[in-house]
Amino acid sequence: MKVCFASSECVPYAKTGGLADVSGALPKSLAALGVKIKSFMPLYNLINIADYDLKPDPINQNIQIHMGRSSHIFNTWNATLPDSQAQVYFIDCPDFFHRDKLYTNHPDEAERFIFLQLAILRILQNEQWAPDIIHCNDWQTALLPAMLKLSYRWDNLFEKTSTLLSIHNIGYQGRFSRDSIYGAGLPYQHYFPGGPFEFYDSFCFLKAGIVFADKISTVSETYAQEIQTPEFGAGLEGVLHQRKNDLTGILNGIDDDFWNPATDVHLPQNYTWENLTKKRQNKRELLQDAGLQYDVKIPVIGMISRLAKQKGFDILQPVLQKVIQQPVQFIILGTGEQEYEKFLRQMACDYPDKIAVTIGFNEGLAHRITAGADMFLMPSHYEPCGLNQMYSLNYGTVPIVRQTGGLADTIIDRDAHPKNGNGLSFTRYSSESLHAALLRGLKLFKNKNVWKKMIEQGMQADFSWNSSAKKYLKLYKSLQKTEK
Ligand code: ADP
Repeated sequence: MKVCFASSECVPYAKTGGLADVSGALPKSLAALGVKIKSFMPLYNLINIADYDLKPDPINQNIQIHMGRSSHIFNTWNATLPDSQAQVYFIDCPDFFHRDKLYTNHPDEAERFIFLQLAILRILQNEQWAPDIIHCNDWQTALLPAMLKLSYRWDNLFEKTSTLLSIHNIGYQGRFSRDSIYGAGLPYQHYFPGGPFEFYDSFCFLKAGIVFADKISTVSETYAQEIQTPEFGAGLEGVLHQRKNDLTGILNGIDDDFWNPATDVHLPQNYTWENLTKKRQNKRELLQDAGLQYDVKIPVIGMISRLAKQKGFDILQPVLQKVIQQPVQFIILGTGEQEYEKFLRQMACDYPDKIAVTIGFNEGLAHRITAGADMFLMPSHYEPCGLNQMYSLNYGTVPIVRQTGGLADTIIDRDAHPKNGNGLSFTRYSSESLHAALLRGLKLFKNKNVWKKMIEQGMQADFSWNSSAKKYLKLYKSLQKTEK
């Protein structure tokens, strides 16, 4: 089985969110199952070549790609994913990928990712490497299925190649001016109201992917159902519903080379279920670094998040003011929308002995919060899969979540299920419900036996990629056109 895995971000090289975690971990697990895998991503200038032992690709250098009236040249670099056989190809085109962020709102944003996709196909052609599957991820690589079916049909190399589109977040759709269709080399006739390329008067990469991919997956079973409804489909529910027989949900796993409390290199103290007192040492140091006082009896609630409405910050705002009157401390790490950054900074100023806020992206601190906090809060409006709740469970940190998407598939409410509950969850998206769940958490924290039982449930659960990677392999096999 040969798979081309296309993604705009990948751990450890470049990350803005969960997509990078998946792109780093899934190819690794698939390679361990015997899949020959080549991953592709841009060489952003934020990636330091020396840090990762990238080597110039022996074949794919100085390649020109024409896009409409312009043309651009790229070089290619290679690496293998750490601890793995999976190969990674980095598309090096400074015109497009030397920016201050991975994603921009620059006028050429569409061209940047069209270029990436054309470059991927060119490399496959240069190497005459015919993948059984091209696995694309989110809007940035969602045009590949349309390209294969509409503009690369002439090339027999791809005759037996099938496509899978994984949707990691339906809220990000890649909508651009219709002029980009020419740049992508795609036939304009598919752009008409309600047609495969058109979405609210724009050329929508994700919609094109949903229409032309042979199969579609998303990152949890509940989210696969939710995105077929107007509340969660972000306008694409109709087209997804039409493809419901080809749509599946596969829960992400966690990469325990990076996220394992027994071996995590970012922690002051490694620990397991057997020596939980060491977790306390992580709490102590976390609080010290945050400038808060340590008290074993006062629960610390952690949050690590993109600061976006999706993540529940609108319902959190009024609640934080109230719940902070209780004996509790918050340690929050995030970056994103200004409104929430400002609010959190203000809260940290108003309650300097109770709330510590770090605005920014900080991998090490993310690990230390996951280990040092007692509870982890994710009041998301929607959550395709969510990784932090799974990390928290394995780190003995009890999640408090809203029941949606992957959060619904992984968190079992302790009060509703006293025997096997591993966290707390609430259903209605409202400040009142969030407040009630937080108060339940503070109350349960005082009951040492119950708390320990919940921690045990979480730490002993297996969220490794093994079982999810096998599900992807099964899906690939169902699409395979060559002899198995
Ligand atoms: P999403 O992809 O919607 O942002 P996920 O829960 O799927 O949400 O994945 C988020 C990933 O990004 C997790 O690994 C989380 O720890 C990490 N993350 C989010 N914000 C930060 C931050 N400010 N600093 C470090 N890591 C972060």
